[in-house]
Amino acid sequence: MKVALVSLGCPKNQVDSDIIAHGLLKAGHSTTADMTEADVCVINTCGFITSAKEEAIENIFNAVGARIENPKLKIVVTGCLAERYKDEIMEDIPEVDAVVGIGSHDKLLEVMEKVCNGEKLSCYGPKTKLDITKKRIISTPRHYAYLKIAEGCSNGCYYCAIPLIRGPHRSRPMESCLEEAKWLAEEGVKEIIVVAQDITRYGEDIYKENKLAELITEISKIEGVEWIRLMYAYPERLGDDVINVIATNPKVVHYLDLPIQHINDRVLKSMNRVGGNAVIMSAIKRLRDAVPDIKIRTSIITGYPGETEEEFQQLYNFVKDIRLERLGCFAYSEEDGTKAAQMEQMPVEVREARADSIMKLQTTIMAEQQAEMVGKNVRVICDDYDSENDLFVCRSVYDAPEIDGEVYVPGNSKMEIGEIHIVHITESDIYDLYGELVD
Ligand code: SF4
Repeated sequence: MKVALVSLGCPKNQVDSDIIAHGLLKAGHSTTADMTEADVCVINTCGFITSAKEEAIENIFNAVGARIENPKLKIVVTGCLAERYKDEIMEDIPEVDAVVGIGSHDKLLEVMEKVCNGEKLSCYGPKTKLDITKKRIISTPRHYAYLKIAEGCSNGCYYCAIPLIRGPHRSRPMESCLEEAKWLAEEGVKEIIVVAQDITRYGEDIYKENKLAELITEISKIEGVEWIRLMYAYPERLGDDVINVIATNPKVVHYLDLPIQHINDRVLKSMNRVGGNAVIMSAIKRLRDAVPDIKIRTSIITGYPGETEEEFQQLYNFVKDIRLERLGCFAYSEEDGTKAAQMEQMPVEVREARADSIMKLQTTIMAEQQAEMVGKNVRVICDDYDSENDLFVCRSVYDAPEIDGEVYVPGNSKMEIGEIHIVHITESDIYDLYGELVD
């Protein structure tokens, strides 16, 4: 079969798509980006928050639209939206031929054959299976890749649907993580980006102790791995052993994604976030003391049910005073089935106005911090070449793919896509930097 595989959502879902793609190719099928020539379109959806759900539904209707030109096209929906809205999808969008839960990716080929024989079905297995140990392809540019070290989440934040969708936290055995990291390095991957819903819980379930620092150290011993980037750390569980690895291991980049969501103790408690203001402030201080040039990325939520003007002001002052280097702010969106959705909701305009004011403030902070990079040399990895502007598009050690800024270098520089270089920063704007090749 020719399969159009659409991958939506976060890097963790992207890894699932890579595993699905590997299974398809191994079974002799081929993939195509063109839905008008495909036999089946598999949409690996995100269903985390409203905007992601809207994007998923839009993609489903794109496939329905493609059927006008390609009447034989079958539509299979999987991923978080499928897991969350088992029955609604096929009821509300009868053009969908099958929905497959995240616990049944191993049945996807069978489902595709059945829909091509005219069947309509839904297939859901227990979430407990850990598909992430399976082989995959690399759908990111060849020099960086996401390594998923666990599935699910047991933190139970009251606003979050992930535990409902993905089930409890399940760590992936270390051998399996290392085997994949070795394979990625053999395939030319230099930057391994370690992801999970909460990487700081790694190992506690299967080894009865936290093994994140050990795992990072073992990955760093793999030949060919040059950069290790850590995403999705939980402040309360950020151990000194992990901070020490960031500080001392030359392959671990001085960057950490540390979602905090809020800074007010009462709001954090009502979110069911473990560890209050003091724990978050301590995590940031320990990181900055041990790694003075670290760039901390975080995400925060405004307009959570019950957030008072004073509590919001505390969050605003925190952003202003602590000046985290990378920050995303989201207006709270109530999600079906979550505890917070049953609370008294605040008007959407207030939630959004608060998020806008935080992002306006953060834009100023970012511009000032980027300006401080001018005159410095920084290690970058070259992601791409922009022929229209004759510029190499790179990322510094301080920037994760797709969410952070870029470093632009003149196109006549002796650079190679996928290679790591030293660049002298000559100019900055809010998110991006401009520089000249040094090495
Ligand atoms: S840590 Fe909280 S917000 Fe993050 S995935 Fe788990 S439950 Fe959701």
